[in-house]
Amino acid sequence: MSINRFKALEASQKRQPQTVNYPSDKISDYFGENVFDIGKMRSYLTEDAYKSVKKAMLEGHRIERNIADQIATAMKDWAMSKKVTHYTHWFQPLTGSTAEKHDAFFTPTEEGRAIEQFEGKLLIQQEPDASSFPNGGIRNTFEARGYTAWDPTSPAFIMGRTLCIPTIFISYTGEALDYKAPLLKALDAVDEAATDVCQYFDKNISRVRATLGWEQEYFLVDTALFNARPDLILSGRALVGHSPAKGQQLDDHYFGSIPERATAFMQDFETEAYRLGIPVTTRHNEVAPNQFECAPMFEEADLAVDHNLLLMDLLEKVASRHHFEVLLHEKPFAGLNGSGKHNNWSLGTNTGVNLLQPGKNPKTNLRFLTFLVNTIKGIHDYADVLRSSIASASNDHRLGANEAPPAIMSVFIGSQLSEMLDKIEKSIKAGKMTPEDKTALKLDIGKIPQLMLDNTDRNRTSPFAFTGNKFEFRAVGSTANCSQAMIAINTIMAKQLKAFKKSVDSRIAKGVKKDEAILKELQDLIKASKKIRFEGNGYGDEWVKEAEKRGLSNLKDTPRALTPMKTKAYVNLFESQGVLTKREIEARHDIELEAYTMKIQIEARILGDLCKTYITPAVIRYQTELLSNVKGLQDVLGANEAKKAGKVQIEIIKEISQHLEVIKTDVDKMVEERKKANKIANTEEKAFAYCDNVKPFIEDIRYHTDKLEQLVDDSYWPLPKLRELLFTK
Ligand code: ADP
Ligand code: MG
Repeated sequence: MSINRFKALEASQKRQPQTVNYPSDKISDYFGENVFDIGKMRSYLTEDAYKSVKKAMLEGHRIERNIADQIATAMKDWAMSKKVTHYTHWFQPLTGSTAEKHDAFFTPTEEGRAIEQFEGKLLIQQEPDASSFPNGGIRNTFEARGYTAWDPTSPAFIMGRTLCIPTIFISYTGEALDYKAPLLKALDAVDEAATDVCQYFDKNISRVRATLGWEQEYFLVDTALFNARPDLILSGRALVGHSPAKGQQLDDHYFGSIPERATAFMQDFETEAYRLGIPVTTRHNEVAPNQFECAPMFEEADLAVDHNLLLMDLLEKVASRHHFEVLLHEKPFAGLNGSGKHNNWSLGTNTGVNLLQPGKNPKTNLRFLTFLVNTIKGIHDYADVLRSSIASASNDHRLGANEAPPAIMSVFIGSQLSEMLDKIEKSIKAGKMTPEDKTALKLDIGKIPQLMLDNTDRNRTSPFAFTGNKFEFRAVGSTANCSQAMIAINTIMAKQLKAFKKSVDSRIAKGVKKDEAILKELQDLIKASKKIRFEGNGYGDEWVKEAEKRGLSNLKDTPRALTPMKTKAYVNLFESQGVLTKREIEARHDIELEAYTMKIQIEARILGDLCKTYITPAVIRYQTELLSNVKGLQDVLGANEAKKAGKVQIEIIKEISQHLEVIKTDVDKMVEERKKANKIANTEEKAFAYCDNVKPFIEDIRYHTDKLEQLVDDSYWPLPKLRELLFTK
């Protein structure tokens, strides 16, 4: 029997805020206590082992086997001192979440006792029985096994009583089966390319790291109410449910006071996050009711990605202690804002410089302009790559729905910087620059920091916006693994910066002075990338028309957004930067399409089930009650009088029948379309069939179920209403 809506409501109303046990009054006392970081390694390792692992962490060097043994023992000793009994290789398969396979430290001995053991070989490499992870055919055709390999650049950490060792996940033939391996390669590629370009400005720069600061949005729903909604349980979103009378019109939730139960939950999960060294700093309410956001201090991109995945995991784990379910889905409730995960991205040097931060003098400002303009040009050339990196069935609901950027990729830089770029574009004439020209331009460039100071431009409708010292990629979905966006941006940037370096060098080789060569190249890039810049309202219909005129893509759904993965340009980009091979890209394309198909398939199935076994029977019961009322009227008043007296009832009876009929025929048609789609062997065609032929029914059916919700006596309605999910205190 389904969970009773009223019992669920009662349970949710009785809840009290949980008390939070803080390990100490000062966060610094326990920040990172569950992480085997550099500091702890120093006290657990010999000098040699410590130096070697530090080098591996900072420079990606290999670790010798005997050193690995030492590190493994040290990790185990540290973990056991914290009551840890098991260890796991922690990896990021292409399902989008994280995976673990736990093994115990203890090994039985011959005398029938047990000792705790952990060797270097178990640290370095493991072979999880992971044949059910998506591999896009890679492991089927070649080697059936995949293995996880230790990534010493991310520190090991403790979750519960398990030591988690961050790893990459690859096939025996070397293909990446995860998000982390290509991310590390993309970060290396951008490091190399950006470091080379930095040599024009500062010889001391020997390393450039991409930085990422994500902002995670999510909804909280009471566990009892959640459990009474099969659609939330199985698909993460409410497939039926009329928008509450009060939604977010009053904007009273945004930055409002956070309800007590939610506050207790947040304090609890933040404490857990601090223990894991995740520097979460901001917490606030979002636009929609029961929607929240948390964001950490930015970190190097690979660590930031690990931390985001850990945090998503933590959110769910800690929420259950507070009788909450966390909804990470991009659009759990139609009619209310969805959830995103802004990716704030920049490049930082070993000398402590943020390359997207305007400098203090013309030279550092030229460096800033170089990185700014190259980013714009990269996004211009590879907008479709960026779009494909954020495609998912759930994010499709959000992009372009007037709450998040449209599916059209564009770059916003603010009016002052736009003027600056326009000036560079127009003021440099063909041929050699005169000394006067140069001085004038340098003066202008020197003014950038002042410009930025009073730059109040904030365009929240742009998918890729410059926000003063970083770009903010706003189209990333809340369920996404940020790796996908970070792989795309950093690979694009690597390719662009290498092309830039080559062109500037060839200008210099022809006798042009360095600064002039850079300026001229920037001018060319500004001209060539103009159409990607957009300062207006990204939510407006005019932009859709304007973007079409400019020739920008508007790929509205996942199967279409993924088509660029099949192009030569896409493959060349990733192969040229050593990030992904053609085969890996093909595999990923297949995996994404399959995930898409499965998600729509699941939604269609649950919706069919809800209509047939929840909504229709409940509505018929109510209709029967109306019918017996009308029948009663006829008995007492006679047929003619009853027609008048029962007018309202009869109308409702008819309306109910009309909606039920449409629902029935639509569900039947949807099942037919699904059957047809399931027969298609080609993965891409199948995804398109689900997108174009199955998905439209999901929306249509909802229209009618939501009408019924408003017709039927509240006490008959079988599912918690959106109002109850979102406003129950
Ligand atoms: P909002 O978008 O909510 O207005 P902010 O614009 O203040 O918030 O962005 C805050 C996010 O930007 C934080 O996660 C912060 O860590 C991140 N951030 C700040 N500087 C950088 C940087 N150099 N590189 C990457 N992320 C950064
Ligand atoms: Mg933001």
